[in-house]
Amino acid sequence: MEEKVKGIVLGGTAFLENDKILNIFTLEQGVISAKIKGVKKAGAKLKFASEPFCFAEFLFSKKGELRTVTGASLIDSFYPIREDIVKYFCGGTVVEFVKKFFRENEETSSAFFLTANALKEISYDDKNPKETLIKFLFYALKESGYGLYAEDCAKCNCGIKGRVFFDYRRGAFFCEKCFDGEGREINLSTFKGLNEVLMGNSVDDEIRTKILRLLAFYIENRAEEKINSLVELTKNL
Ligand SMILES: [Zn+2]
Repeated sequence: MEEKVKGIVLGGTAFLENDKILNIFTLEQGVISAKIKGVKKAGAKLKFASEPFCFAEFLFSKKGELRTVTGASLIDSFYPIREDIVKYFCGGTVVEFVKKFFRENEETSSAFFLTANALKEISYDDKNPKETLIKFLFYALKESGYGLYAEDCAKCNCGIKGRVFFDYRRGAFFCEKCFDGEGREINLSTFKGLNEVLMGNSVDDEIRTKILRLLAFYIENRAEEKINSLVELTKNL
């Protein structure tokens, strides 16, 4: 049986001497895996289709549950992601998030467009890649059932001005008056900065890093997943 799907390569592992097993996020079927043959040989025709971030229309032959890539036509390689270390870790966070949070055969078209748009913006836009990543994580968490309520104090809607507390179990922020002991205090500038970025405004790099650290903390504690590229990004860049 043959299948034609649009997908973005999330990564791959070596298989036998020259083959790879790819994880591909497809528009039609969510995250799937597929074998691709001979791509480690010099001059392999489909080598481009085995690289992370490659967005292509793939042709598979399918035997039972096993798919093999038989052809691919490139839509976008998002090449600039490879040329800049910050972009690289931002893009890496996007694909790692998808691999960990979206499964096979899920209705994922909105998550797919969110992912493709984030990679496109990180590659080609003048916008800061960390701000694109913050927006991606916020909306991708929502898609995965881990939405954050970040507009205001989740209890009294007071428009928090003083101390602010974050409760990762509820994915919500509280003012000092409403805080009931669950969670931890964060900087007001991190909370305000998150809202600025979500509105499309720019913030200082220090604030971006603090927001990304907060999101990494939330993902680790609430969803119990660690995104290694995100940890690298907030530690060193
Ligand atoms: Zn409150």
